[in-house]
Amino acid sequence: MNHHNLLEHYVKKILAAPVYELAVRTPLQPAPALSQSLGNQILLKREDLQPTFSFKIRGAYNKLVNLSAAQKARGVITASAGNHAQGVALAARELNIEATIVMPSTTPALKVTGVRSRGAEALLQGESFPVALAHALQLAEQTGKTFVSPFDDPDVIAGQGTVAMEILRQHQGPLDAIFVPVGGGGLIAGIAAYVKYLRPEVRIIGVESEHSACLYAALKADERVVLPTVGTFADGVAVAQIGAHCFEVCRVTVDEVLTVTNDELCCAIKNIYDDTRSITEPSGALAVAGIKKYVASTGVVGQTLVAIDSGANINFDSLRHVAERAGLNEVCV
Ligand SMILES: *Cc1c(COP(=O)(O)O)cnc(C)c1O
Repeated sequence: MNHHNLLEHYVKKILAAPVYELAVRTPLQPAPALSQSLGNQILLKREDLQPTFSFKIRGAYNKLVNLSAAQKARGVITASAGNHAQGVALAARELNIEATIVMPSTTPALKVTGVRSRGAEALLQGESFPVALAHALQLAEQTGKTFVSPFDDPDVIAGQGTVAMEILRQHQGPLDAIFVPVGGGGLIAGIAAYVKYLRPEVRIIGVESEHSACLYAALKADERVVLPTVGTFADGVAVAQIGAHCFEVCRVTVDEVLTVTNDELCCAIKNIYDDTRSITEPSGALAVAGIKKYVASTGVVGQTLVAIDSGANINFDSLRHVAERAGLNEVCV
């Protein structure tokens, strides 16, 4: 498929994605203090306000709703310790599909409860995510249940792309760039496909944790690479390899990828709090941290820059660490 056809294929899937049976249209909200201090208009796409507190229900619901009747009857299986697990559990309950979520045995009780309370079966298996994933794939093979990838699936990508459809409808004036957090690449692939098809002048900038910069590495090598180690402070994006479907889109649409440090994330969580009185998880603050870096390095002024505020699932206890790191950062206090 050439670029144009590839993007058009996704735009059609995005327009047809019935995510609003479960997801909500989230606000695109000005961030006055950040805008003032950065000299640009900063808008936050508040995906932390979704049911389950992240955008992941968009992709999960679109994947599940598009299964055949036979697949729905057999049930679905996935591996996740985080936001994708909640999304699949909620979407499955809504559609009356049996869901099994394999979680590493180290998963905090809070998240296991989150899955079970939504009616899904949580299996604790393996001491790390790759072991849990291998188990889930094996179970899918044995049971005939459909495996639901957190990012590397065209239906999941299209579900996440509905975020971009909303942004372009909510903001019809000049728009210079959209900053998107990147884990396995489902969110940025969906957003980039939609935006580059309709408004190719809008820059799409990926933002990764420096401890899981798998899109940056893949674009540089011009092929998908597996990172030898992955840091988990930003657990929502702790992925070692960009998805294959995601990379197919990203390599022809993403203008730039920035990486940020954990301390920059802690500071960005504070910046978002100051403007919204809402707490974001570390992955959810990536885009704002990326905007700050972009403005500092390019010196742009007067632009309109959108940050996807992608999630809010942080353990209350972790806030102590976040506040402490932000407090040690001179520009953040
Ligand atoms: C999953 C997730 C991401 C990254 O999305 P990908 O589609 O894996 O790139 C970013 N932020 C949060 C809060 C997430 O849960």
